[in-house]
Amino acid sequence: MTARLLEGKVFAAQLKEQAKADALQLKAKTGVTPGLAVIIVGDNPASQVYVANKHKACEELGIYSEVIRMSEHTSKSQLLAQIEQLNLRKDIHGILLQLPLPDALKADEAEFLYAISPDKDVDGFHPVNVGRLSIGQEYLVPCTPYGCIRMLELAGIPLEGSRAVIVGRSNIVGKPMAQLLLARNATVTICHSRTKNLSEVTKEADILIVAIGKAKFLTADMVKPGAVVIDVGINRLPDRKLVGDVDFETVKEVAGAITPVPGGVGLLTIAVLLQNAVTAARALQKR
Ligand code: NDP
Repeated sequence: MTARLLEGKVFAAQLKEQAKADALQLKAKTGVTPGLAVIIVGDNPASQVYVANKHKACEELGIYSEVIRMSEHTSKSQLLAQIEQLNLRKDIHGILLQLPLPDALKADEAEFLYAISPDKDVDGFHPVNVGRLSIGQEYLVPCTPYGCIRMLELAGIPLEGSRAVIVGRSNIVGKPMAQLLLARNATVTICHSRTKNLSEVTKEADILIVAIGKAKFLTADMVKPGAVVIDVGINRLPDRKLVGDVDFETVKEVAGAITPVPGGVGLLTIAVLLQNAVTAARALQKR
């Protein structure tokens, strides 16, 4: 292996320490304990695990956490009423709606997400926070791309003037990732499923971020020697093994640095979520 391995646990620990210190400082100065509410509708087994992990992480960091479990038969108006109730609560500073929703509610997903007050939107999905990010105000930023950028910064990888290529243009990863890199003076290209000659573009990248949801899609011949490769993808193979969007075994021989899957950027997502809860608490307390 030639590439430097960027292990998520190392950077996640640093981010959690920072969030813990910030939560303690807020409590000492104002008496406010940051509060995060997670709404889970139905009994999707993977969601139950994610929610339990978030709850445990909150406890470790001194953040109050409340899990609101709603039946899979919850109606649209009941869920909207629950969100509104949390919007009004003074002890809750962050609200997270665990996805996916049960089939009957899926069509209204955006309406539920946008019903969360932008001031408590710890996922950073609300159009107000998307707008803030696009004008260079990083307030509540989507957790996965923010985890990637913090990892790059903590790893000491120079961003200013670098050529960054992002493969994937989703609202939750690709687009906010582009904004974050642009704000750090990288020259950014976003690729997607209609991009022509994709490998010609990816081979120009000093920093290559892949978030498409296709197992082992990015191969060594698509990477410039020495590039930093960040793999956001999470894909389960038929044999249940988890892999990313990058063909790790071949790309690690060409790249200068690379994140593994599992054990890469996915580990930073919860840490950023908790930092967002502290950020929201600090801002709400000032009002
Ligand atoms: P989406 O499905 O929303 O978006 C996928 C993007 O990839 C689209 O922009 C699509 O292009 C593009 N794409 C698909 N196929 C190709 C191709 N052959 N060539 C170039 N571009 C392509 O995915 P997400 O952004 O939500 O997630 C991407 C991956 O990241 C998934 O594996 C997901 O599981 C993972 N993920 C991991 C997280 C974590 O670590 N915590 C959090 C969020 C996501 P187009 O727009 O043209 O259709």
